[in-house]
Amino acid sequence: MEAAIFLPIFIIGVLTIAYLIKFMAIQERVFHALTDEARALSAEAVLTPLGALNFEAALKSRLYSENDIMISNVDLDQFHYLYADGTYGMISMDLNYDVDVRLPLQFYSPMPVSESLMFRAFIGKTMDQENVSLAELEKEKESHLVWIFPTAGKKHHDKDCIYIANEPMETSMTAAIKRSYDACKLCESKNMVNGSTAYVFTKSGKVYHRGSCPIVDKYVTSIEKEEAQRKGYSPCSKCGGG
Ligand SMILES: [Zn+2]
Ligand SMILES: [Zn+2]
Repeated sequence: MEAAIFLPIFIIGVLTIAYLIKFMAIQERVFHALTDEARALSAEAVLTPLGALNFEAALKSRLYSENDIMISNVDLDQFHYLYADGTYGMISMDLNYDVDVRLPLQFYSPMPVSESLMFRAFIGKTMDQENVSLAELEKEKESHLVWIFPTAGKKHHDKDCIYIANEPMETSMTAAIKRSYDACKLCESKNMVNGSTAYVFTKSGKVYHRGSCPIVDKYVTSIEKEEAQRKGYSPCSKCGGG
């Protein structure tokens, strides 16, 4: 009599423990694979941004092959690659999947799990600059931007300098620019694709152009002050150089 009551409870208890151990092992293995792939993606960022294109597919195939049928519905969500959030080069993502621990009795249903990752890619410096030592990278370096005319003159300017105020700014085309500024009819800039190089009159005119537009005669762009000096730019006498 006693055994008849006790045995089912005992079996359920053992199964629950077995389930939890398996569940945690799978979760651990998935998290390890996720951070391992993310680390590779981060390290690659200094060489090529193309690693991101294949990231989701590679991660999924690794997770399914490592965990067989014990996970399902793997989905990478909110994948943001090399964006700026205080510092440039941030990567973030959410990984969702279901753990389906197969126990003999099919006692438990699949359990949804969600992991979030956010980290900074190893981007060092951009490709056209010199390599820097690890010690130098670890030093927190503050960004100090100045403005230059890449096609005219060798002076660097403060962002408020009157010499640059009415010049178009070189930037990358985004949906936000299309929303905030008007397209130029002359160069038909409304057909420009996002990501292409655009020239925006931010202070005067509020219009964006292609580089080939006759209105874009010279333009300004921002670079690190240190780099400007290395490239032979000297401070503007009007604004002090920024
Ligand atoms: Zn100036
Ligand atoms: Zn134009």
